[in-house]
Amino acid sequence: MSSIPSFPENTPHILVLGMGGTIAGLAPNPEENPLQYQAGQVAVDSLLSQVQSAIPQGIKLVSHQLANINSRNLMDSHLTEMGLAVREALADPLVKGLVITHGTDTIEETGLFLQATCGNLAQTCTKRVILTGAMLPSNAPGADGPQNLLDALRWASMAIENCPAGIYAVMDGRVCMAMDLAKRHATALNAPLQNSPSSPVGLINLSWLSGVKAVQAAWNADLPIPPVGEWPWVEVLTSHAGARPETVIQWLASNVQGFVIAGSGHGGFHDAWAAPLERAMAQGIALVRTTRTGAGATLANIPEVDAVGCRASGPLTAPRARIALQLALYAAKQTNLAGKPLTWQDFFARIADLPEIR
Ligand code: ASP
Repeated sequence: MSSIPSFPENTPHILVLGMGGTIAGLAPNPEENPLQYQAGQVAVDSLLSQVQSAIPQGIKLVSHQLANINSRNLMDSHLTEMGLAVREALADPLVKGLVITHGTDTIEETGLFLQATCGNLAQTCTKRVILTGAMLPSNAPGADGPQNLLDALRWASMAIENCPAGIYAVMDGRVCMAMDLAKRHATALNAPLQNSPSSPVGLINLSWLSGVKAVQAAWNADLPIPPVGEWPWVEVLTSHAGARPETVIQWLASNVQGFVIAGSGHGGFHDAWAAPLERAMAQGIALVRTTRTGAGATLANIPEVDAVGCRASGPLTAPRARIALQLALYAAKQTNLAGKPLTWQDFFARIADLPEIR
């Protein structure tokens, strides 16, 4: 781990975990073409050095590079390592809060993962974890990363009386719960917060805060973090015009353990998939339905009655439903081993049925 700036090891600090992303990206020709770049090029301690002079006095920082990737390449193993690092830091009395710099492509998956595996621990340890990223590489004119990083640091170190502990995300001067963050635009600077509940950093409105508290009250037990190599295999299949049964059938000979169907409209899927999906479920493959529309909840037995065992995703988008199903399948396996079985549907419901902040 490295410290920015250096200070005695036993000093309370904010821990900044670097995962890479555009915030750590470099463009070869930033003036002419800032959108042609490589993500995950700059070390997290360099990102902190660049904003050092603007860091509010009294905030001590320690940084740790967990990965330096383009987040479109995020793997289960990254999530395991991140989750374990976050849990360790939350339990460390010297760590007062955490910031994670992350690519925005899959920040949605990470937000849900951290809420489901570390959300309760953050509350009991009364600390905040703040995810942030950027839409422009670090050397682009007007790069948004430095301000996002500063906002995240400010948010992480804010007095606990002003904002409950928990897992948040900060982008483009606004904040939301990390599980609500989703990239909804390919290029806009506020892409990860479009259509998301948000309010200006430092100016939390009270109704928003009560929504956060409702989520915190409902989330009273974290799910286990699957060890590297033990994540259930779950695929997202998108239903579309002209869908073929083969798209589902080809999976039936694999070890896949779950499907998230990104369905049309209410989360329905092409009739051509009905018989093969029935076969999949009979084989023990878990099935979750969600909508590919990008907004709105997917409800049980709408538009048709669901097959027994199939679960509607509620408000979870396909990427979030996929992580939720992986965690639910893994948690169900653990309770089976412990002799007090709960189903994957029980665990999935804990996540999907959380109050929505809207
Ligand atoms: N492809 C980049 C990533 O997710 C995009 C970004 O960070 O904004 O790592």
